[in-house]
Amino acid sequence: MSRRPIVAGNWKMNLLRSDAEAFSAALASEVGSQPPVDVVLFPPAVLIDTVVEGFEGTPFEVGGQDVHPAASGAHTGDISAPQLLDAGCAWTLVGHSERRRDHGEDDHLVGRKASAAAQHGLRPMICVGETAKEREAEATFEVLERQLDAALGEGLLGGADFALAYEPVWAIGTGLTATPELAQEAHAHLRHLLGQRLGASVAAGIRVLYGGSAKPGNVAALFAGPDVDGFLVGGASLDSSSFWAMISACADR
Ligand code: PEP
Repeated sequence: MSRRPIVAGNWKMNLLRSDAEAFSAALASEVGSQPPVDVVLFPPAVLIDTVVEGFEGTPFEVGGQDVHPAASGAHTGDISAPQLLDAGCAWTLVGHSERRRDHGEDDHLVGRKASAAAQHGLRPMICVGETAKEREAEATFEVLERQLDAALGEGLLGGADFALAYEPVWAIGTGLTATPELAQEAHAHLRHLLGQRLGASVAAGIRVLYGGSAKPGNVAALFAGPDVDGFLVGGASLDSSSFWAMISACADR
């Protein structure tokens, strides 16, 4: 089955309003040459409005970097799925390793977030991946299975529209990238697990992105993996021309 690739940018806690205006204008000016690739940007919450406005009239989509499992209530500093949708988001990241590390988010909470997003019609992009220690201990597949089961086990149904991002923690923001073989192996394993849980035809349609020091110079080789359906990009998404170069590199398989 052919899956339309996604190239997504995660700005984390970077950039200001003026940068977001310039970036979205630069990307919008490329729309005429957009290859058949879905483009999603995850700006900091305070810049969502700016990017949504800058992307108006383009097919580019915007997402939140995190979502709370509740729809509303006494949760200072958090943002709910209905609020993200109301702000113009179509997606939300869940389970990014920096949220797991900085905010102590566990697999169970990640599952609740994914489920809440899907129930409201916000597409979760679920991040999974092993640490360096876990890889050295040859526990990568076990970790991926545990994280995936937690994400699916909280009520995320097979019919929900979601994407997975395989993000080996040791490759995020470190300049170390998984080799194409290693990325393909992890992606194929995730698709195998999805097939066991949701059925082969559902699994065949789910996009599994790679994240971890992806940049213009390495995406073509990684994208050659048949189960690599695009990229979740941190550092290299802060510059519109390098982000666009990565989008263009995913045009043909
Ligand atoms: C990320 O934050 O999801 C990420 C992959 O970061 P980087 O591309 O900077 O490694």
